[in-house]
Amino acid sequence: MNQQSLPATTKPWYRRPQAVACPDQFGTLLADSVATLRRAATHSPCALASSLSAEDMVLFHLIQRERLPIGTFALDTGRLPQATLELWSTVESHYGASIERIVPTGTRLAALKAAQDGSAIYESKAARELCCTVRKTEPLRAALAGKRAWVTGLRRAQSAGRAHVPHQEHDAGFGLEKFNPLADWTDEALWYFIDLENIPVSPLYDRGYASIGCDPCTRPIRFDEHPRAGRWWWPSAAPSTRPSPPCRPARSSRCSLA
Ligand code: SF4
Repeated sequence: MNQQSLPATTKPWYRRPQAVACPDQFGTLLADSVATLRRAATHSPCALASSLSAEDMVLFHLIQRERLPIGTFALDTGRLPQATLELWSTVESHYGASIERIVPTGTRLAALKAAQDGSAIYESKAARELCCTVRKTEPLRAALAGKRAWVTGLRRAQSAGRAHVPHQEHDAGFGLEKFNPLADWTDEALWYFIDLENIPVSPLYDRGYASIGCDPCTRPIRFDEHPRAGRWWWPSAAPSTRPSPPCRPARSSRCSLA
């Protein structure tokens, strides 16, 4: 990916749906999601694993609105976009509720930094996987230890790989129940509810981002790309050369934070 492959004259950047009409059967959809959250809450201790995505903001909003005994944590990988860190603070102030900060183990992070520099993730799949293991997978496993259930914002509409996500399943990998209350929400339903309830979301959704993770591994997308195309966007089989940073759309003056 480089500046030449995204000329300014091609199609416009992705921009999240706004001012969409109420989707059909939305009341039923919302009631089913709240019912799933209530069922998750009976498996105490239960926690929402938030990445501060739009989906996770909806779930955090519902947990606070319904006063459900479900905690929330997020993984601070050390490489999150500044906008995500700012959203984190904004959301905690907005709701008067905290999101537990989960960080990598100090010794593991020190070993990772000693073994590879910050750009090594672009140069080999092994380096990227090690970075994800230390900064995400191991902290997630630690955060879920002792829990009976967890809640995620997975939706079937996000990708073919998630086409059969159920509202509830047994997560054999972590040995606990997993709840996906938004499994059957469309993009339209998601953004309709966010606008309806004035839920804080990342301003990056107005800057070409459709899916937001760590800063080095996320880029904006054009409107006709797959929503996940901006994640780990460089070719996995690329030669051992660092990719040029992707070009980015002009920064919008609009901020969707309440
Ligand atoms: S998403 Fe990228 S920066 Fe974040 S942990 Fe994985 S490889 Fe590292």
